[in-house]
Amino acid sequence: MSGTVAVEKPSYMVSAPVTMGLENLGRVEGGPFKRAFFTHFQPAFLIAVVAFYYYAPAAWIKPSVTLWIGLGVKFMMMGMEWISPRYKSWQHTWKELACDTFYVAMGMMVVRVVFGPINSEAIISWFQDTFDFGKIAWFMAMPLLLQAFLLSFVRDYFQYWMHRFMHNWYPLWVTHAPHHFITQLNVQKGSIGNPVEIFLIGLGVSGLFDFLPRAVLLAGAFGLAVGSYQHCNIRFNTPRWWFKIFNTTEHHSLHHAQDYESTRSNYSGTWIFIDRMHGTCRDGEAELLGQEGGRRMTIWETMHYTFTEPYKLLREKFARRRPMVAVPAE
Ligand SMILES: [Zn+2]
Ligand SMILES: [Zn+2]
Repeated sequence: MSGTVAVEKPSYMVSAPVTMGLENLGRVEGGPFKRAFFTHFQPAFLIAVVAFYYYAPAAWIKPSVTLWIGLGVKFMMMGMEWISPRYKSWQHTWKELACDTFYVAMGMMVVRVVFGPINSEAIISWFQDTFDFGKIAWFMAMPLLLQAFLLSFVRDYFQYWMHRFMHNWYPLWVTHAPHHFITQLNVQKGSIGNPVEIFLIGLGVSGLFDFLPRAVLLAGAFGLAVGSYQHCNIRFNTPRWWFKIFNTTEHHSLHHAQDYESTRSNYSGTWIFIDRMHGTCRDGEAELLGQEGGRRMTIWETMHYTFTEPYKLLREKFARRRPMVAVPAE
């Protein structure tokens, strides 16, 4: 017998089937036109969105237009999910659609309530008076695309560490865990989670609407044309080079896998090369998603989990500390 002692793994460190490697991914099914469309769509759409923000007249470069574009993109993606679904098991049922719509509406409301005041006249003029644009003249002198890339990269880099921290520190994990209970992906799933998490993620988002320079919206365009795919149920023949740079549904489905080890990878939102830089990237995809073997979490539990889980844990801890009281035999 060897001298090693088998350490029992905690119950949440389960293994579950995943597809590893880019060569083993599923392919688009259908005729040549459909296959070509779903092979070239992602790069073509990114170029179109970037070109829009680059060349559009200044009057169109404002957040309200971007919000409408974002909404249009969501509906377009829902159509694509219907034409080329990634997994049949992820397709909408009425119940799923009703729940998702609730979360999307709630997410929009939380953002409005939290970030609404930031948009007020007083705060905007204070910001413009206090913030000396002269100091960032060197930044504004750089090519627009470079500015946009840097803004997007810095934001994603911050989000990468925030997300990684959420997976490694219990008080933050309980805010993020409800999002990991989703058992299938579709365009709306990005909104699912406890409102506290949406707020934490929102910290990385500039809520300073209405006077954003073109570079900031262009940076947002990367998120729109890349980050939106994270939670979608669309089967693409994603080009190899795209996988090297950008986050994809494939990567993010591994992050949501039932398989514990896979959830500890692919933390970035837009730029997967950040994960490659830090050795946390995993290439592949997963169909079986969720926590606790794919247990479905109700909306009610999603709301209170963040607060009740730590409470339960603490209660158990203190219960164990209490001295055993002898129970008299009856
Ligand atoms: Zn996560
Ligand atoms: Zn996710």
